[in-house]
Amino acid sequence: MEQRLRHEAKALLEQGKVDWIIGFEPGSLKFTTTPLITNDKNDADRLVINPFIVNNLANFLTEVKGRVGIVAKGCDSRSIVSLIQDNKVLRESVVILGVPCLGIIDLSKIERLVTKDRNELDDIIREGDKVVIRVDGEKKEFPTTQALFDNCLACEFPTPQEYDILLGEPKPAAPNLAQSRENIEKLEGMSPGERWDFWKNELNRCIRCYACRNVCPACFCQRCFVEETEPQWVLPVPRWQDNLIFQIVRNIHVAGRCTDCGECQRVCPVNIPLRSLAREMYDLVDELFHFKAGMDKDARSLMTHYEEKEAEEFFR
Ligand code: SF4
Ligand code: SF4
Ligand code: SF4
Repeated sequence: MEQRLRHEAKALLEQGKVDWIIGFEPGSLKFTTTPLITNDKNDADRLVINPFIVNNLANFLTEVKGRVGIVAKGCDSRSIVSLIQDNKVLRESVVILGVPCLGIIDLSKIERLVTKDRNELDDIIREGDKVVIRVDGEKKEFPTTQALFDNCLACEFPTPQEYDILLGEPKPAAPNLAQSRENIEKLEGMSPGERWDFWKNELNRCIRCYACRNVCPACFCQRCFVEETEPQWVLPVPRWQDNLIFQIVRNIHVAGRCTDCGECQRVCPVNIPLRSLAREMYDLVDELFHFKAGMDKDARSLMTHYEEKEAEEFFR
């Protein structure tokens, strides 16, 4: 896939079919990749595809001007489609280089499994349904269900739903919803009081860095409500009460746009379990409206149209 990607990306730039390529290159830290945004065809040889291509690159589409070739995993392609539905991106301005995805390795889980820092590991390799780790001259194997991000365990659409060039064979979906929802089910098992205390404690740790918002392709407002001063919806100081309002409103804003890409939780520097909120909203949208984000570029976006049969009289 990597060789094909390099070839296709170079050809797209050479033939003037795109102005930019957005993909991944090796990161400066072990077992990482970093986004590569380039208009130089010679950079195509730096592009990589491996089990560490974690970023949802759709987030850059609203910022890079011109025609763009973009590398997209299943969830990323749905974010792109959702942006097209919201008229934030023109379909004809994007060439989607689709990656049938096997799931992304969660380095935090790997560190817990082998009780070592990632810098102490010699290698991490994906082999079928196992992840093989070489450390201190030993080989340790774990099932992928223990090593992938929770959202990847739940993935229903690993192959991009919308693409121009598919870089490999489509991958069958094998979602393990029970395992991916373990944290959510723990929360559902709590009493309302316990749940309130849980989120109060978690959101007390929020430093309001806005990484969760900035990394999210579904959070595309030019001016976020948290920055409004007239009226001021929330205080800029990270009090837990204001942090709670921030997360509640953010989740309502991304309802019907969130593809469960998991990026908000991954980037949180204080490890607040934000996917528990995002996935719960994703499932609610599916249950109430039979709608999954980013499945059909020609469908109306969930929150921008009304129907005569709306349940709420207020809308009719
Ligand atoms: S959610 Fe699916 S498409 Fe997205 S990174 Fe995980 S396995 Fe790949
Ligand atoms: S990424 Fe975490 S710490 Fe930063 S604003 Fe979001 S919840 Fe708060
Ligand atoms: S809310 Fe989180 S999981 Fe949903 S699209 Fe945004 S970053 Fe991805």
